Amino acid sequence: MSVPLLAIHTMTTKPWDLPTAAAKYSGAGVRGIGVWRQWLDGRSLTENKQLLENHGLTPCSLVRGGFFPSLTKSERQSALDDNRRALDEAAAIGAPQVVLVCGAKPELSLPENRKQITEGIAACIDHAAATGVQLAIEPLHPMYADCRSAINTLGQCNDIIDQLGDAHVGIAADVYHIWWDPHLYQEIARAGKRIIGFHVCDWITPTNDFLNDRGLMGEGCIDIKSIHRAVRDTGFNGFTEVEIFSTRLWATDQDQFLQNIITAHQNYVAL
Ligand code: ZN
Repeated sequence: MSVPLLAIHTMTTKPWDLPTAAAKYSGAGVRGIGVWRQWLDGRSLTENKQLLENHGLTPCSLVRGGFFPSLTKSERQSALDDNRRALDEAAAIGAPQVVLVCGAKPELSLPENRKQITEGIAACIDHAAATGVQLAIEPLHPMYADCRSAINTLGQCNDIIDQLGDAHVGIAADVYHIWWDPHLYQEIARAGKRIIGFHVCDWITPTNDFLNDRGLMGEGCIDIKSIHRAVRDTGFNGFTEVEIFSTRLWATDQDQFLQNIITAHQNYVAL
């Protein structure tokens, strides 16, 4: 039996390497996979592609590129080189998009961070076009505006794409990062077909760790179904990607966790 439109990020089941995750997801009927780049290590890109194909898995995203702002020109250049490599890797394994965690440096002002991000994305567009892989800007919760991403709302993504054009740049909308936004639904509607990725997990209270204390869908306070419905109303017909960073859940039995993900997707995400 397959679970329609459900994909899982390899980071969600962090204890599993790619061969294990691919076998387990596939065995449980999951058809999509979001591949984090470090999971590609140790095999050639061709072998990685083959591995996913052998398990009937569709790679929906390669995670991640971005981290554009830097204090020096040479670091900015290495970031661009790395993003172009990410596009090449995505193309090689058949992933249609690279998710961008845009980056930020606390030493720089927010306007300067945002300027460098826009310039960085602009500088990768030609390579995106050449590889046929899209750049998916993922706005991050503002608690990360100091050092992970100075792009924090869908509105900012829409403004950037207004500027750069939407031929090769889209948006990965992750409920964890956008649920609090009072302009959420109007910006989803404004984004329309720009939304090319949809990520889910939940916000738990209290959140004990900024990065690795995310919840399984249904454990927290995010109205995931309403956001999901609004995203689907834009015409989005891709996978829902389960992306959970959780020290607590990584310490549990991952086979049971996988089953819990499928049940939670059914109960709290599926429309
Ligand atoms: Zn995400």
